[in-house]
Amino acid sequence: MIQFQYTRATQPKAAVDAVTKEKNSMFIAGGTNLVDLMKRGITVPQRLVDINRLPLKDIKKEGSSLRIGALALNSQVAENKMVLQSHPLLAQALNAGASAQIRNMATVGGNMLQRTRCPYFYDTTMPCNKRQPGTGCGALEGYNRMHAIFGFSDRCIAVHPSDMSVALMALDASVLVTGPSGDRRIPFADFHRLPGDRPDIDTTLRPGELITAVDVPDSPFTKNVHYLKVRDRASYAFALVSVAAALDIKKNRIEGARLAMGGVAHKPWRLAEAEKFLVGKPVSEATFTEAANIAMQGAKAFKHNAFKLRLAPNSIVQALKTAAKLV
Ligand code: SF4
Repeated sequence: MIQFQYTRATQPKAAVDAVTKEKNSMFIAGGTNLVDLMKRGITVPQRLVDINRLPLKDIKKEGSSLRIGALALNSQVAENKMVLQSHPLLAQALNAGASAQIRNMATVGGNMLQRTRCPYFYDTTMPCNKRQPGTGCGALEGYNRMHAIFGFSDRCIAVHPSDMSVALMALDASVLVTGPSGDRRIPFADFHRLPGDRPDIDTTLRPGELITAVDVPDSPFTKNVHYLKVRDRASYAFALVSVAAALDIKKNRIEGARLAMGGVAHKPWRLAEAEKFLVGKPVSEATFTEAANIAMQGAKAFKHNAFKLRLAPNSIVQALKTAAKLV
């Protein structure tokens, strides 16, 4: 284990000041990903600023949104009555993630910031542009079964591992942050980045910025929702493909739809064209199959993940059917 300094902050401003004043400083909350990264020498902070005592754990109504504090634990959010009533899709996605032990440690902010599980990123003997820019990508010509089919670049084909973030993407959430230049709100769709030529940068957070909360706006998607996660094991495995599906159905007609996928891109992947197609259509397997075909336009596979080109549309149809209670 590397040597590092440790500071505990009790207010957001003090935390931001502490992380800003010293180079290579990082916030730590649950540490469920960061400690692994430090043990392997992938992330080497000089100072950790412990934010666990910041007053950012509340889950409360705020106008027409539910505001979830960045330090609320994944398990607390998944069991919260307001979340279960107004955003059951989010609860389902949280319960699909990791293990019960990790959900009891991991925070909402940390979940969004977890790094890819690409095996080459964690193997410091292999090239990886995300870990060490300019070294190459071990996965491009390597074993790329878990990798992206959308939005990748010739520098990186990794996927984002969070389940919770897929639901937040579908639910049009936004991320509240505070930093050296003050507070701002980031639409969830703009929070995670595609790799482009800088795969080492995962998000649009600016240096020193701290996530304080996530706002999830009220929506009609309270009944017909489903989070489908397809993975190699029934528990404690990352998604090969996941689908967050939410429908607003009136008299067998789709009034509104939200769809996002995980395990397919460097960020949670919103299926906007398929959503548009679904609105106004009757609830049927044929409708869902056509939406899935639209969603898959532009997908491209690598040597070992071609199965995702079939798994993904099949998963979309299955998630929509389950959300619509057709199965
Ligand atoms: Fe690294 Fe991305 Fe290539 Fe994986 S896919 S080896 S994370 S550059």
